[in-house]
Amino acid sequence: MARVYNFSAGPSMLPLEVLQTAQKELIEFGDSGMSVMEMSHRSPVYDAIIKETEANFRKLMDIPDNYKVLFLQGGASTQFAAVPLNLMKTGKADYVVSGQFSGKAFKEAKKYGDAKCIATSEDKTFSYIPEITPDMVREDADYVHVCYNNTIFGTKFPEVPNVGDKVLVADMSSCITSEPVDVTKFGVIYAGAQKNMAPAGLTVVIIREDLMGNAREDIPTMLDYKTMADNDSMYNTPPCYAIYIAGLVYKWALANGGLEAMKERNEKKANILYDFLDNSTLFKATADKKCRSMMNVCFVTGDADLDKKFCKEAAEAGFVNLKGHRSVGGMRASIYNAMPYEGVEKLVEFMAEFEKNNK
Ligand SMILES: *Cc1c(COP(=O)(O)O)cnc(C)c1O
Repeated sequence: MARVYNFSAGPSMLPLEVLQTAQKELIEFGDSGMSVMEMSHRSPVYDAIIKETEANFRKLMDIPDNYKVLFLQGGASTQFAAVPLNLMKTGKADYVVSGQFSGKAFKEAKKYGDAKCIATSEDKTFSYIPEITPDMVREDADYVHVCYNNTIFGTKFPEVPNVGDKVLVADMSSCITSEPVDVTKFGVIYAGAQKNMAPAGLTVVIIREDLMGNAREDIPTMLDYKTMADNDSMYNTPPCYAIYIAGLVYKWALANGGLEAMKERNEKKANILYDFLDNSTLFKATADKKCRSMMNVCFVTGDADLDKKFCKEAAEAGFVNLKGHRSVGGMRASIYNAMPYEGVEKLVEFMAEFEKNNK
């Protein structure tokens, strides 16, 4: 077996133990006589899988009882529309634009009401997180939307933004389950699962119960949080297999110490990489120090040809998918929960060697 160190931003690597369990259970799950892929989502055996998955996710994220967990489809991008369609009661919402995905969310919300960008870091190519204070939020806005970890630019909110008593909505696609978060500070948290939790096809929404039931009349049924909650995410066929894998990932995270332990591991991984970058004469980290992401580490040499050479040689050495997003270039190492410490340590060794050879 020759598994590489996969630094893809998403879909991204899964814990090897999870893949091994899935392999063992691929053809027959338990004594059901069939694969999870072949089961009716309404069968008792699948019902037990989805219930256990939700229970473990709740335990992992410490989700209070007054929040619903929804297992949906359509990716985080569908939530860009679902959020305003469900939550814009007065027709107003405030957005922080700190990267490409939050820009897309803002643009989508503008279709449905008076969405306002209250802060942006576009002036410096989204290399920092703008400061948010409660007085920036409009009094009659229904919610404030942020992207908590900017996957493309490698920045993260250093703390939960203070929006006073407004409902805070967060896209956590690329940082969910990377560290503990106080769910009670948010009205809605959503995430495409393919970064840190599962294969593509599953979108997880955590929503405070009192925020449901106010959707626009003309909302597509499939986007209505209340419909999905009332039907336990089974209004239609859910992404059954991706939910099953997410369940294995949650079990893996719990068995490995939960989110406190994930945070410790992730900090340790991010620190060796950032420390190397800060001391390098060739490579340079691009994100502002105060808001660096633990999950997506962006860096450049300053020379596009050298960046290309680096990515090519790294791939040959078994470190793949280090090319930065097509919109920004440079390099990006996505080091989600499943990336072992050893992977980052070896990458740093490789980078030091490359630096020596390219002075
Ligand atoms: C990947 C990503 C998205 C887009 O997710 P899809 O599931 O492809 O729609 C949105 N927001 C963030 C922060 C992401 O990292």
